[in-house]
Amino acid sequence: MTAASMRSVHVAGIGRVETVSRPRPAPGPDEVVVAMTYAGICGSDTHAVAGRHPLLTPPYFPGHEATGRICELGAGVSGWELGQRVILKPNVSCGDCVNCRAGRTNACQTLSWIGCDSSGRRPGAMAEFFAAPAANLLAVPDGVSDQAAALVECLSTPVHAVRIAGEMAGSRVVVIGGGTIGLFTVIAARRAGAGRIVMTDLDPAKLARGLRHGADATADAAGPGAAERARAAVGGPCDIVFDCVASQGSTGQAFELLRHAGKLMVVGVPAGPLELPMPWIQDWELTVQGCANYTAEDVEAAIAIAAGGGLPAGEVVSAVRRLEDASAAFAEAARNNSGKVLIQP
Ligand SMILES: [Zn+2]
Ligand SMILES: [Zn+2]
Repeated sequence: MTAASMRSVHVAGIGRVETVSRPRPAPGPDEVVVAMTYAGICGSDTHAVAGRHPLLTPPYFPGHEATGRICELGAGVSGWELGQRVILKPNVSCGDCVNCRAGRTNACQTLSWIGCDSSGRRPGAMAEFFAAPAANLLAVPDGVSDQAAALVECLSTPVHAVRIAGEMAGSRVVVIGGGTIGLFTVIAARRAGAGRIVMTDLDPAKLARGLRHGADATADAAGPGAAERARAAVGGPCDIVFDCVASQGSTGQAFELLRHAGKLMVVGVPAGPLELPMPWIQDWELTVQGCANYTAEDVEAAIAIAAGGGLPAGEVVSAVRRLEDASAAFAEAARNNSGKVLIQP
């Protein structure tokens, strides 16, 4: 029997996104095959295509922000039904290392990724079908649209960052960057009880969107005086800064905003090494905390936000493109980081 084939996006090399034919996956033991409905193009994908991702290098089969319907169950899978709508949790942890045993499965020491894997072992969901361990799927509640479901993965990272930031109730928060991740950080921080939230960005349209979804005020991030404007808007030195840009400029602004013993949460993916003011970190007892992906608990919390109507898919999805148009869709996603480009079969 020859395996059936399907259409799939392939990041073949730097600047080369293709739609190819490859074998349709079959479910291994404890795995499920899902017919993809939507798969989002992530900033990590556009960075990898541009050759600017520190960890992900082409070639690879992309697609880690995905939703679809179950179409095949592997041996040993129980609790799932054919046709059921699911969200992919693409990070696969070992369950056994020191971090997994402590519940920090996102920091698993042998973490692998469906859709972000140059080894070819875990091809992604930007294809007609994808396979995943049943343990990496979460059910989509009835009230959540397919497009919102495709954005849940994206919301899970900010939900995680806010959760590990510690006490949010009443805190002064600045979110640097108003792209999708910055917007979702505002949404997550609001829901976690932040006292006052200021979003900064260069783009007035992104700032206006932040105000519609939970920011109390905004500040223009351009040039000298940006940190002073943000500090005035938030009402004084800041408890927690979420840096969703992670450039040298945004990092510098973050340190100007923090209070003594404040926390810098590094949410954006830095393109390379950045200079940090170590004397300042020492003397003010500042915390610099990395934030990477999420646990199942964070994805569940993101689903709950979506189920409560708190995930504004209509304002985030900027385009829906077909698998055949992936190359143009990736270029479109790279040009505009305020919206999300979704791929559908
Ligand atoms: Zn992503
Ligand atoms: Zn582990």
